[in-house]
Formats: sequence, structure tokens, C-alpha cells
Amino acid sequence: MTEIPKNHPRYESLRIRELLVRGVEEGVTSKAGLIAHGRGEAFDYLIGERTAEEAELAERAALGALLSAKNPVISVNGNVAALVPRETVLLSERVGAKLEVNLFHRTEQRMKAIRVKLEEHGAVEVLGTEPDAKIPGLDHSRGLCTEEGIFSADVILVPLEDGDRAQALSAMGKQVITVDLNPLSRTSMCADITIVDNITRAFPNMLTLEPLEIDLDNRENLSGMMKLMCKTLSSLYE
Ligand code: ATP
Repeated sequence: MTEIPKNHPRYESLRIRELLVRGVEEGVTSKAGLIAHGRGEAFDYLIGERTAEEAELAERAALGALLSAKNPVISVNGNVAALVPRETVLLSERVGAKLEVNLFHRTEQRMKAIRVKLEEHGAVEVLGTEPDAKIPGLDHSRGLCTEEGIFSADVILVPLEDGDRAQALSAMGKQVITVDLNPLSRTSMCADITIVDNITRAFPNMLTLEPLEIDLDNRENLSGMMKLMCKTLSSLYE
């Protein structure tokens, strides 16, 4: 890993980029994942690179929903596995959720590399490499999943997800929770609970925050995040 001086003003952001570059080198993250990260970073600037009040509320609501689910599942892609492998495993243990690898750019090598990475960080069982079901409305490789996991999940956490799949999961009647720094993405708009926070803060937070069982008004929460972004921008002009 490239040595980043700890006193660099953007140390944390550079450290996270390095994790993704390493993810690509390990065959865990796709090149397109680097582009998705860049989009996320831009929105992170606008929220001041910290967890907003609205995001913390959504994180607590997400914990409440996952804990009260019958079959909660956390869907893992190449960016999630590169950035927060240990926290993903610990979160699945905290809320009793299954882990399933699900990729937009699916290759068998990457599916396996992600499974192995999660196992190295303590996962006992990682679903996804042997799919036996399909999410209706998606083309073949994007829709592949397991009956035991994503297909039968009642509550699903799909961080950093593509809009089509989030919409298809929602159309199946599942409660969809996402982590997405872009409050304008299709995923953010269609989810039941959108956590507008960097996953590198959201997942560690979710290991310690108190769960909250509430019927979160997602539109209102997203609108709060957009107002915060506007406020950050306008404060720069004052
Ligand atoms: P959509 O299809 O939902 O309209 P999109 O085309 O931007 O949006 P993707 O690129 O597939 O979708 O999804 C990646 C999403 O994840 C982006 O909205 C991006 O802002 C967000 N993202 C990227 N990195 C992070 C991160 N570290 N933490 C939280 N969100 C992130």
C-alpha cells in the first residue's frame, strides 16, 4: 500500500482510496467501483465528511428494522468488501443477518475473492457463489441470487447499490435499506431507509448505536440531507 503521511490534510480520504485500489489489485473491486467511489466522495464533501443527524437517525432505524426482521440479509459488493470487510461481518453478527455477495459486474473470480475476503475477516458463511434463484425483472447475471438469502429476505441492506436492483428488490416487497452518499440516486429515492453517509463511517457507527424501531419518513430524511448540502455550499459564499 502506498505510504500516506498521517499529517496529510486529506489523510482519511487518501487512505480510503488506497483500500479501493488494493481491492482492484486483489480482484475484489471492479474498475467501475472506483468511479462509483468518486461520485460518492463528491457528495461526502457536501455533507462535511461527517455523519449528519439525519444519517445517524437512519442508521438507528436501519438497526431496528434489521433486528426485527425474520430473514435479514446484507448484500455485499466489491466496494463494501474493500472498505469495510470486518465491520460488515460484525454487523451481520450484531443483527443476525446473512451475508450474500451480489455483484453488478458479476464474474465468478470476483464472487469468490469477495467471499474469501469476508471469511478472512471472520465470516462463517457467505452466500452467493452458488445461486439458485433470480430477482424478477433483472437480466440474467444481475438477477442471480440465492433462495436462502436475498430471494427470501424480508429486510435487505444493499449498500452502494445500483438503482435497477434496488427497485427490483423493492418491487419484490422487501424492506430495502441502503447506504448511499448521493441522496439523488435512484437507489436512495426508492429505498425505505436511506443512510446518506460514507459506509466507512456508517458501518462502524452501526456497531455501537442504539437501535430504534420507528417508521422513518425517508423522503423527509433525504430532504434534510439535501438541505444540509445546500447549507454547506451557501456557507462558502458568505
Ligand atoms: P443509481 O443507479 O442508484 O441512480 P448510480 O448510478 O450512481 O445511482 P452506482 O454507481 O451503481 O449507482 O452506485 C454507487 C452509489 O454509491 C453512488 O450513488 C455513490 O454516490 C455511492 N457511494 C460510493 N461510494 C460510497 C461510500 N464510500 N459510501 C457511501 N456511498 C457511496
